[in-house]
Amino acid sequence: MPRRKPSPEELQEIRGLASRWGKIVARHAFGEAGPGTDVDLDAMEQVAAAAAAGLTEGTLSTLLEQQAHLLGTEQPCPGCGRLCAVRRAERSLNVRAGPVTQREPIGHCPDCRRDFFPPAAAAAPGRPRLQPRRAPDHR
Ligand SMILES: [Zn+2]
Repeated sequence: MPRRKPSPEELQEIRGLASRWGKIVARHAFGEAGPGTDVDLDAMEQVAAAAAAGLTEGTLSTLLEQQAHLLGTEQPCPGCGRLCAVRRAERSLNVRAGPVTQREPIGHCPDCRRDFFPPAAAAAPGRPRLQPRRAPDHR
C-alpha cells in the first residue's frame, strides 16, 4: 500500500473494490429484488451518499487510529524535549466527504505550559498542521 501519496492505479483499484461493495449496500437497502418502480433516483442517491460517507468515516478512523497508536503514551515536547504524556481529544475533521471525528493525540508539556501535536501525520508540503493556540515565543 502507498507510503505517501497513492498512485492513480492504486486509487483506481480501491475504487473498484468499493464499487463492488456497492452491490452489498444496494441489497441491504432494497433487498434481493431491488427497488420497486416507486423508488426514484434521488432516493437511490441518498443511499449511495450515506454509504460513501460511512466508508470514508470508517476508513479514516481506522487509519488515523493506527497512526496515533504508533506514537505510544509519551512524546518529546518540541520546545524542550521533555517526555510528556500523550492524551486523546475528540476533534472533528472536515474532509472532502464531510466531517469525521478523530481521537487526536495531544501532548502537554508542564514545563513549557503548552499543548503540542505529536507528528503522526506529517503535513504535506505547503499544508502546515493546525495548532489550537500559538506556542510561547522563547526569545
Ligand atoms: Zn516543553
